[in-house]
Amino acid sequence: MKKFFNTKWFTLATYLLLLSAISLIGFIFLQNNQTLKNVIVSFFEVAENRTFDYRQTLKIVHKQPVPNKDIVVLAIDDASLEYLWDKYGEWPIPRNVYADIINYIEKDKPQSIIFDLLFIKSIRATKDADNALISALNKYNNIYVGMNFDNLPSDVRLPINLPERLSVELKNNSNVDIKSKYSYSNCRTILSELLNGNVKVGLTNVIRNSDGIIRRVAPIVYYKDKTYPYLAFVAGSKYLEGTDVKEFTIDSSKNINIQDLKMPLNKNGELILNWYGVSGTHLNYPMYKLINDMENRALKADRMNFKDKIVIIGTTATALHDTKSVPIQDNVYPGVEVHATFFNNMLDNNFIKQAESGINIAIVFSLILMTILIVMYSSSTIFALLSTILFAIAYLFMSYYIMELFNLWIPVVIPMMSIIVTFALTFIAKYLIKSKDFEYQYKLATIDGLTELYNHRYFQDMLRQQIELSRRYEQKFSLIIIDIDFFKKFNDTYGHQSGDAVLRQVAQTLKKNSRTTDYVCRYGGEEMSILLPNTSAEEAIFNAKRINKAVEERDFQINSTQTSNVTISVGVATFPDNGETPQDLIEYADKGLYYAKEHGRNQVGLANQE
Ligand code: GH3
Ligand code: MG
Ligand code: MG
Repeated sequence: MKKFFNTKWFTLATYLLLLSAISLIGFIFLQNNQTLKNVIVSFFEVAENRTFDYRQTLKIVHKQPVPNKDIVVLAIDDASLEYLWDKYGEWPIPRNVYADIINYIEKDKPQSIIFDLLFIKSIRATKDADNALISALNKYNNIYVGMNFDNLPSDVRLPINLPERLSVELKNNSNVDIKSKYSYSNCRTILSELLNGNVKVGLTNVIRNSDGIIRRVAPIVYYKDKTYPYLAFVAGSKYLEGTDVKEFTIDSSKNINIQDLKMPLNKNGELILNWYGVSGTHLNYPMYKLINDMENRALKADRMNFKDKIVIIGTTATALHDTKSVPIQDNVYPGVEVHATFFNNMLDNNFIKQAESGINIAIVFSLILMTILIVMYSSSTIFALLSTILFAIAYLFMSYYIMELFNLWIPVVIPMMSIIVTFALTFIAKYLIKSKDFEYQYKLATIDGLTELYNHRYFQDMLRQQIELSRRYEQKFSLIIIDIDFFKKFNDTYGHQSGDAVLRQVAQTLKKNSRTTDYVCRYGGEEMSILLPNTSAEEAIFNAKRINKAVEERDFQINSTQTSNVTISVGVATFPDNGETPQDLIEYADKGLYYAKEHGRNQVGLANQE
């Protein structure tokens, strides 16, 4: 454990802890600054939604999903619009034409007919045409028409009370909150004979994200405290259950259940659509052909047979501007194909599920950890950078395949940001650790472990450097050599441990009595040396005497209870007076030291004293 505290990992952990603390402070700051928070959150949302679009587009190119062949879009396309306009002289066409169409298709026994059209009260519609439509729509049990909710103020139009039969029961056993986002107070109503009749009614409201693109659909919404279903959702649930479903359950895992089908809602109660291709992917049959089929029975061979088909009727003509932006790149959909996509998702159990926040946190955490490991174990910057980029690309591929294979939307934007930020920070941390490590190595190479004085090698280097400097600037410098007197005997008397303690204390005494610009070194054994830059012989001798006296007067602690005294003998040499090479200078100082030893020790000896 103790070893851990000395490792680079501990240092790194400290940096990261510090960073987390800063992030936390930033997070708390954002909590208190709602506008800034909204800007940041919506930035991440828009970017993340974009990655969804790219994944969907790539999936369509790569997987080429096949839409359900039982879904037919009966399309009022541009050609049909021109045809209808020529034939009936007006748009919308007279409503009795729809009655004829319904009766014609119903002969084939289709699974259902779904109108993405709003049959609102119109002053242009004749009473007879309306009645024909109303009776056709109410005659069968498998026809669905659209309606819209909105939040227009009640002075535009009065909100109406809808008949009981249109609402559904919702049992919500989860924390999904539909009400706060999808509560409507007004309604664009359709003919009252339809509301109160037999035809089934669903909502055609679509949800656009802030960038205008449709990605999600709310299958059930609130209107005046009751719940109402989306058009394709009522039709789809009837298809799956075999009967009209009047009660829906959201289980504790946020799935809305139909039979054993579990459709994954997000926390706002939305289903995320999974797309099949560019506009026109679902089987399209133009309205003008149908009217030709209807009127020209002779050509029965290549007419469309609607047996067991889910017929979704709506406008796809670009001239009608009923187009919606969808995630598929450079593509817009008509509303009717959005309904077809939803229906198809129900049949295939194919909705996209967004990963829960717990999984998201785990992902971000593992990515951060991996990035740290990559950077820490990379031997070079370029290798670290390339490995991290490769790692990020691998994650992007994974996020794509997870969506393609499991319909799971794992986040991309925040993970990518985490990798980039972690890379940068770990890189800086690694650099800091390295320089600290270098400092440590340098210390190891230059400092003596016992006395913490400079070591012999450093002394030699410095001596050469001082000679060069003093020569260039024509200055003097001095060298003092010190040897402890009778140290062998001291060791013999008190033991080596006490000898070491005294050695350390002598070193301290030398340091304390030297200038900060002096270099105090351990020459070897119990011998020490001091380099005094820019110092003449007189000054050096004065210093040497002071040090000699300081050691003599100090009580050295030899263990916790005892003190003892030691003395030193000292020799001095000055550049260039006493020599111009390291050897000459050391030899000269040694001579002085020898003189001191010879003349009773505990003194500063000079080579020229004799
Ligand atoms: P003098 O210099 O006064 O002539 O006598 P001395 O006993 O000091 O003689 P010498 O320099 O020959 O002996 C040095 C002794 O210093 C030998 C060794 O026991 C001791 N010594 C050297 N290095 C260390 C050390 O790192 N720790 C301890 N405890 N003793 C050391
Ligand atoms: Mg010695
Ligand atoms: Mg000695």
